[in-house]
Amino acid sequence: MHRALEGLSPTVEWETFWIIRAEVEDAGGTLPCTDDPRHTSDDPRERAEAAEVCAFCPALTACSAAALSSGEDHYVWGGVDLSPRRRKATADPDAA
Ligand code: SF4
Repeated sequence: MHRALEGLSPTVEWETFWIIRAEVEDAGGTLPCTDDPRHTSDDPRERAEAAEVCAFCPALTACSAAALSSGEDHYVWGGVDLSPRRRKATADPDAA
């Protein structure tokens, strides 16, 4: 499992995500990011690869909505590398 999923604050969107995840696991499957460290890699190239993996995820839409609902600003969620959002938010305002 995407290691950043632990400890997230609950939202309706996350509840929907967890339901889909449970359905996948009940059917004997796993989400594509399960045990894939690229989703939380510090290497942007690995995160780009991870984002491509998300295209095959049955929870893609729910994952994206959940990540946005809780303001995730790093790592890959729903096929998007959100790390650039963090870099912009923490960038030196005098650097522009
Ligand atoms: S969309 Fe990507 S990050 Fe989200 S659960 Fe699926 S594989 Fe994991």
